[in-house]
Amino acid sequence: MKGERWIHVFTGMTSKGIVLTRGIPPPHLRSVHFQHILALIYCFHSAVLGAKILVMSQADLLYRLQQIDDEIRESKKRLAQVIKLRKESTILEAARDKAQKSDEVLSKCRGKQKALNLELSGLNEKSMRGETRLYSGTVRNPKELEDIQHELESLRRRSSGLEDELIDAMIMFEESEEEASAAAQELETVEASWKHNQASLKEEQAELIEIINQLTIQRNHHLTLVTSESLAAYENAIRRAGSMAVVPLKGRRCSGCRVTVPANLVKLVEDGTLTTCDNCTRILIPT
Ligand SMILES: [Zn+2]
Repeated sequence: MKGERWIHVFTGMTSKGIVLTRGIPPPHLRSVHFQHILALIYCFHSAVLGAKILVMSQADLLYRLQQIDDEIRESKKRLAQVIKLRKESTILEAARDKAQKSDEVLSKCRGKQKALNLELSGLNEKSMRGETRLYSGTVRNPKELEDIQHELESLRRRSSGLEDELIDAMIMFEESEEEASAAAQELETVEASWKHNQASLKEEQAELIEIINQLTIQRNHHLTLVTSESLAAYENAIRRAGSMAVVPLKGRRCSGCRVTVPANLVKLVEDGTLTTCDNCTRILIPT
């Protein structure tokens, strides 16, 4: 019983049943003695327990390996997203930033309004003192009286200008107050939604870690059924073709690159021999 001539060999057991591999088995399973033991286990399981027999070629096993790798990759991708979402989200950061800036603007407007009110009140007091002196009769010198009148006019002009500024400042204060209130409300809503999602994200993160661990164990177990030559072909196809390393033949075409495969290669694929597409190096399996 030489390895190259073997058509069906027993390579192991999975949760789904006994794996019966087509083609040349992995080196650690080529011992005749080992095959006899597995044959006995196979007969016992199939006859007594009615176990399911899976006939798989190396290409079939690589296809399953690819499925496991795809699941691991997708789970890791989602895990990265979940970890990112568990940190403060961009939306929450933006809402917090907006609320903080709106508060700063509001505070500046409030300060400006207060300063204008104080200045205006100082000017009014000064005007009142000037008018008191003007009409009190204590100042008789015409030049001095004229100076007081000029100063009062100047104070009135300045007061009028300040009143305009104050009106503008009051309008700006009201607007910034509305903006700050809206920004605070938005922050509250975004924060509440973020907190609500945290619980489910934490749960999902734990589940994903468990799934990845289980898939890794499954992958390691699965690799014991794969020959080093097959694994090298798989890794080479991944390097050259990306994640879709094992693809089915569709008619006579490689479904990876759509190029027609020669009839002799189609036959090899159908016989379960590990075959790669001449054009894209992907491993081919029957449809
Ligand atoms: Zn191809």
